[in-house]
Amino acid sequence: MSDFQIAITSLAGLASLLRRSLSYVSCVFLFPSAILTLSLTKFFASMNRKTDFLVVGSGIGGLSFALKVADYGKVILITKSALDDTNTAYAQGGIAAVTYSPDNTEKHVNDTLICGAGLCNEEVVRMVVTEAPEQIKELIRWGAKFDRNPDGQYDLAKEGGHSEHRILHHKDNTGAEIERALIRQVKANKNIEILENFFALELLTQHPLG
Ligand SMILES: Cc1cc2nc3c(=O)[nH]c(=O)nc-3n(C[C@H](O)[C@H](O)[C@H](O)COP(=O)(O)OP(=O)(O)OC[C@H]3O[C@@H](n4cnc5c(N)ncnc54)[C@H](O)[C@@H]3O)c2cc1C
Repeated sequence: MSDFQIAITSLAGLASLLRRSLSYVSCVFLFPSAILTLSLTKFFASMNRKTDFLVVGSGIGGLSFALKVADYGKVILITKSALDDTNTAYAQGGIAAVTYSPDNTEKHVNDTLICGAGLCNEEVVRMVVTEAPEQIKELIRWGAKFDRNPDGQYDLAKEGGHSEHRILHHKDNTGAEIERALIRQVKANKNIEILENFFALELLTQHPLG
């Protein structure tokens, strides 16, 4: 289990003291007036924490990672503002993935490389495009709903750069729907503790990079 510690913005001396003694991750506890009444005992008790996984961020990346690793240990998920205040919740159009023929992985890879105008790393494009259908299935298992046609098939949109219909969407608020489903799962998971209004400042690793 790793330690992380929490510093408080409005007590500059305490914050710098804590920052100097950090072991893994330094966070600033933002201090909205509504939380000023938090008892000092409770606050100080929460300054030194141990967890198996510390996840920073509550968008699709952070929430889905937290759900995956919660099977292997305790997770603390911090986010700098409210849980659902993320870019994910604002995303509208939808998510691209190969779900039906005549679409296939090679077409999706080619479309992406063409749009990337030579700037894409093909290996990464291939990995993302190949894994996308399984990741979509996982979102659906977690409760995210995507619109379907009357015949039951997904109502796939076709956006710029795509040669096939492959955009899954939920009305015009796909991101909000994904955020809703993931937050529901995360809140129901006993291995995940959520800390809102906590700001990660710096990540100290055990070994120097490079
Ligand atoms: C208006 C809009 C429309 C979009 N439409 C689409 C679309 O149609 N299709 C598509 O695929 N993509 C779309 N995107 C892009 C998509 O939303 C993002 O790529 C995706 O949501 C990123 O997810 P994420 O989990 O990586 O980050 P985010 O959802 O941005 O989450 C980041 C999280 O990290 C937290 N955080 C950041 N810094 C700190 C810190 N220092 N300490 C603590 N917490 C921190 C934030 O509070 C937040 O919880 C759109 C984006 C926007 C804004």
